[in-house]
Amino acid sequence: MDKYQSYIEIDLNRLENNFKEIKKISGASKVAAVLKANGYGLGAVTLSKELEKLGIDYICVSSLNEAMELRAEYIYKPILVLGYVKEDMFDILVQNRIDATIYNFDQCYKLNEAAKKLNTVVDIHVKIDTGMGRLGFLIDDENMDSTIENIIKIYNLSNIHLKGIFTHLSDADGYEKGFTKGQYEKFNNVIDILKENNVEIPIKHIANDAGSIVFDYNMDMIRMGIGLYGYYSAPIVKRASKINIEEIASFFTTVSNVKYLDKDETIGYNRTFITEKKTKVATIAIGYADGYPYSLSNKGYVLIKGKKAKILGKVCMDQTMVDISDIEDVKIGDAVLLYGHDKDNYLPIYDVADKANTIIYDLICRLSMRVPRIYIRDDEIVKVVNYLEH
Ligand SMILES: *Cc1c(COP(=O)(O)O)cnc(C)c1O
Repeated sequence: MDKYQSYIEIDLNRLENNFKEIKKISGASKVAAVLKANGYGLGAVTLSKELEKLGIDYICVSSLNEAMELRAEYIYKPILVLGYVKEDMFDILVQNRIDATIYNFDQCYKLNEAAKKLNTVVDIHVKIDTGMGRLGFLIDDENMDSTIENIIKIYNLSNIHLKGIFTHLSDADGYEKGFTKGQYEKFNNVIDILKENNVEIPIKHIANDAGSIVFDYNMDMIRMGIGLYGYYSAPIVKRASKINIEEIASFFTTVSNVKYLDKDETIGYNRTFITEKKTKVATIAIGYADGYPYSLSNKGYVLIKGKKAKILGKVCMDQTMVDISDIEDVKIGDAVLLYGHDKDNYLPIYDVADKANTIIYDLICRLSMRVPRIYIRDDEIVKVVNYLEH
């Protein structure tokens, strides 16, 4: 770690623990690891390989580009693209045996043509919109009949294998449970109607983390994202949880300068902080270009030698200033904990998210390419991914 001025440390023992814990609640259902956005910022390729060894059943990503990154690294697990794929890319999707999310008939017809041309069959998952309002066949009174009709037509396409059907919960980590229950009922109603029409689909899935942890809506597969990484999307999920997951990521940087500023000096762009007294200030080598939130300006804090140091002024692109008046012996080169844990200390990412007025997901998936990902197991470095190294 001495080599890198800023890095994110990812603990693979904890990842393994989280996967095993999730297996305790998944029962007979398959477990899909949601590794979109570069595995929520923590490295999709490395985490896929680890999870493959641990026995993950499926991988979900958001785009074909993300799926191809994994295929290029010889990851052969089934991969479902949860989002949109351009028609022009259907050949590549089919050739690489990647599952598509389908939510209209024309799209599927064209995919069938692509598979026919390549003389093969493509796996697809039909998506139903039960209340997210994002992607999915609509199932309100006006659209239900045509949706069922279209899914039957899809089922009968020659080179399409209707392998899955799914929907996404919009409020499974919310306080009001009624809406989520309604989504579950609507989804099951569609499945029942399809069954009456002799359309049986092997993998029916609805649950994200909260859908499984809070509601036990495991069905045939759960799509685990944030929990695999050891986080709860909301306190209510943590309270409902019967498993012990552990945060896998810790974010570090280094002190790059130490100095005293007199009373009435200003710090940072636009002079938003003015010293009220003589103040000992450290500059640290992290900024919003690393994925450290700009919204922590004058609000956040870091830990140096286990003690809180408040952010003074605006977070810059590459650097940030903090108050070390109450911390003794801080020197250039000292370690700074931004969130997560070191041997003796813990800075909850939940605090950082609150102060930055955002969510955990946003904090980790925004980590930039400039930040090396350092993977540890049994406190030893087992892999370093430095995206800037060639
Ligand atoms: C991102 C995503 C998930 C995972 O969500 P978590 O809250 O991280 O569990 C599951 N399903 C879909 C469709 C998603 O887009």
